Amino acid sequence: LWQQALAILATQLTKPAFDTWIKTSVLTSLGDGVATIQVENGFVLNHLQKCYGPLLMEVLTDLTGQEITVELTTDGLEPHSLTPRQSPLKVEATAKNSTALNAKYTFSRFVVGPTNRMAHAASLAVAESPGREFNPLFLCGGVGLGKTHLMQAIAHYRLEMYPNAKVYYVSTERFTNDLITAIRQDNMEDFRAYYRSADFLLIDDIQFIKGKEYTQEEFFHTFNSLHEAGKQVVVASDRAPQRIPGLQDRLISRFSMGLIADIQVPDLETRMAILQKKAEYDRIRLPKEVIEYIASHYTSNIRELEGALIRAIAYTSLSSVAMTVENIAPVLNPPVEKVAAAPETIISIVAQHYQLKVEELLSNSRRREVSLARQVGMYLMRQHTDLSLPRIGEAFGGKDHTTVMYSCDKITQLQQKDWETSQTLTSLSHRINIAGQAPE
Ligand code: ADP
Ligand code: MG
Repeated sequence: LWQQALAILATQLTKPAFDTWIKTSVLTSLGDGVATIQVENGFVLNHLQKCYGPLLMEVLTDLTGQEITVELTTDGLEPHSLTPRQSPLKVEATAKNSTALNAKYTFSRFVVGPTNRMAHAASLAVAESPGREFNPLFLCGGVGLGKTHLMQAIAHYRLEMYPNAKVYYVSTERFTNDLITAIRQDNMEDFRAYYRSADFLLIDDIQFIKGKEYTQEEFFHTFNSLHEAGKQVVVASDRAPQRIPGLQDRLISRFSMGLIADIQVPDLETRMAILQKKAEYDRIRLPKEVIEYIASHYTSNIRELEGALIRAIAYTSLSSVAMTVENIAPVLNPPVEKVAAAPETIISIVAQHYQLKVEELLSNSRRREVSLARQVGMYLMRQHTDLSLPRIGEAFGGKDHTTVMYSCDKITQLQQKDWETSQTLTSLSHRINIAGQAPE
């Protein structure tokens, strides 16, 4: 009977919802009109009860031909009874949507493992029933571990259900720039009207708000206005709120009001599953050894893990060789352990490599070679030092931190697409490591 119920439920729910909330549940007893279902944990229990209680009852009632009440239980927790009620979903207001989302960042493409399970479940929960228990949802975790992916998955999910909902996904950068524009044009009303009209605000990389007092102030009011109106806010950051230096206390306390869910570096099995899934989407057949090889060499950043796979695919297809560990190992450059080095060292190594004078590298010249070298330098400085973006900008002759961010992004992408760039970066990193380790 439970198998039949599962089959029906699978057709009624989206796949991510089914996998997360229902699949792991078991019908443990059925009699006297009461079905007892055992679920994974209290978190799942709460959510099932809120969102799928009526559906569960309906399906079981249909299957058994008698009125069924559902009791959910976890080990060690009291059973919670469900009483029939209407589905809580309501359709939201309409407006045009200006969000640019990556079509690949969906729940179905997100691989769940032990280190991101909580963040994933919480994201799905707010996507399904926003503005309830986890408001705000604060996602934190290191670079390349899937925060942006999850946020955009929430946005996709919402928009799929309510295509006209005002789901705003913005970077902190974009929020700041919109604010600056509004101030310049003396048009704060439009700015406020826009952000406060969101049904759902997702704001990425909030760590960049540090030191920007006015942005923090305005964000605080935006947040309060949305929160009071019961609108869902999701925030992502590379670290927990208390650890963002210069973040105002009142924002820290707002961010801690809901749920803080962190994402840790994934284990080997999850990394292998991610590669496998990606290969399936791209219709590439990957031998198990290759998956294992790549997954065991790229351990701390999923973006780099994917980059390695892309390079392996590009290399084997361009040179028409088989996808084997032997063939790809030399082109993968397992990431070098990055040793800390002084900014001057990095600058001089980069200048030397590109045959430029240090002054040229630090100048404002827009010549192609110079600006590429500068971007590479900024990228390497980001990797080999703890300097903040603004500090790196200073080290490069007073560039803006957005320039630094843009440069790092660009080189990261280039590295993934372009075999030569990736070689160059590896060899420069090696030289910086050696210089960094050299005795004074
Ligand atoms: P962050 O915002 O935390 O720096 P991203 O969300 O940009 O990281 O993720 C980096 C890359 O890794 C993206 O291409 C994303 O699709 C992929 N990725 C991260 N986590 C997962 C996961 N659990 N399953 C599948 N792909 C993932
Ligand atoms: Mg991100």
